[in-house]
Amino acid sequence: MARISDKLAAGRTLSFEFFPPKTAGAQLTLGRTMSELAPLGPDFVSITYGAGGSDRHRTGDVVEWIRRETDVEPMAHLTCVGHSRTDVAGLLVDYRRIGVENILALGGDLPADGSAPAGDYSYALDLLHDVATTGCFSIGVAAHPEVHPRSASRQADRRHLAEKLRLADFAITQFFFDPEHYVRLVDELAALGIDKPIVPGIMPVTNLGQITRMAEMSGTEVPNWLVDRLSAAHDAVDAKRIGIELASELCRDLIEAGAPGLHLYTLNRSEIAKDIRVNLGSVLV
Ligand code: FAD
Repeated sequence: MARISDKLAAGRTLSFEFFPPKTAGAQLTLGRTMSELAPLGPDFVSITYGAGGSDRHRTGDVVEWIRRETDVEPMAHLTCVGHSRTDVAGLLVDYRRIGVENILALGGDLPADGSAPAGDYSYALDLLHDVATTGCFSIGVAAHPEVHPRSASRQADRRHLAEKLRLADFAITQFFFDPEHYVRLVDELAALGIDKPIVPGIMPVTNLGQITRMAEMSGTEVPNWLVDRLSAAHDAVDAKRIGIELASELCRDLIEAGAPGLHLYTLNRSEIAKDIRVNLGSVLV
């Protein structure tokens, strides 16, 4: 079973997210991480894509390597802002050629200088139409539990997401720390007639400075209780232990709330994901 939609229909999934390495050393790290996480039996792993296509070949190379060298099913992220329809058609042909069956269809971020993006696409929905037309892929989209920073309103955010999910097979969420954000998102989509699987994205936090920057960019709230618990760490080792504990608690809450799967942001490291999997034990099954 290769398609993520089929895997989600069969039961709760566990997945890991990686980014394409830029140096030879980082490639070796990702290779080791894959070999350490593969025995946990992930249902799929996903590979991010540089906005505007900066990682285009790196993403394809990693996805191809995973297809060739492992038994794990890859999902390729694909952003559309800054791309032409010809670029996208070429990438989709390449993915079909190497047997990729899962695509995460994304908008991508706008140019940092605030200029209008060049290319044929404005929103993920436009890309989604092009990927769906091929009939060759199981397609996921991004969801933003705390509302995407560019959304005009909460209602507009949910309306646009619902539109994507009428066509896509599933969504994976931006990271968040309070399970209520996820529950509210699922309820709001249900009110719009959407019951496709919404897989929560979990970002284990072991470094407050780093997560504060990432959270600002994605519009995620870093709650005071999380700051307090991490600030109590004696050193980096203790911070890691607390981060694993917090992420494991969030995973348990989300499973209890009915999440159809868990998607762990790994930052290309295996230890934290492995410890969270151990902590979850049979809860995940
Ligand atoms: P869209 O669905 O296009 O939404 C973007 C904004 O436009 C939202 O505010 C939406 O409400 C609004 N909108 C949508 N349609 C309309 C319309 N018709 N009119 C007006 N407004 C509209 N980024 C990368 O560069 N590479 C990655 O690999 C990557 N992976 C990601 C994985 C996940 C799981 C998530 C959650 C995010 C990821 N991102 C990645 C970040 C993502 O590209 C950014 O958050 C981007 O700004 C929005 O992407 P989107 O697919 O949600 O865009």
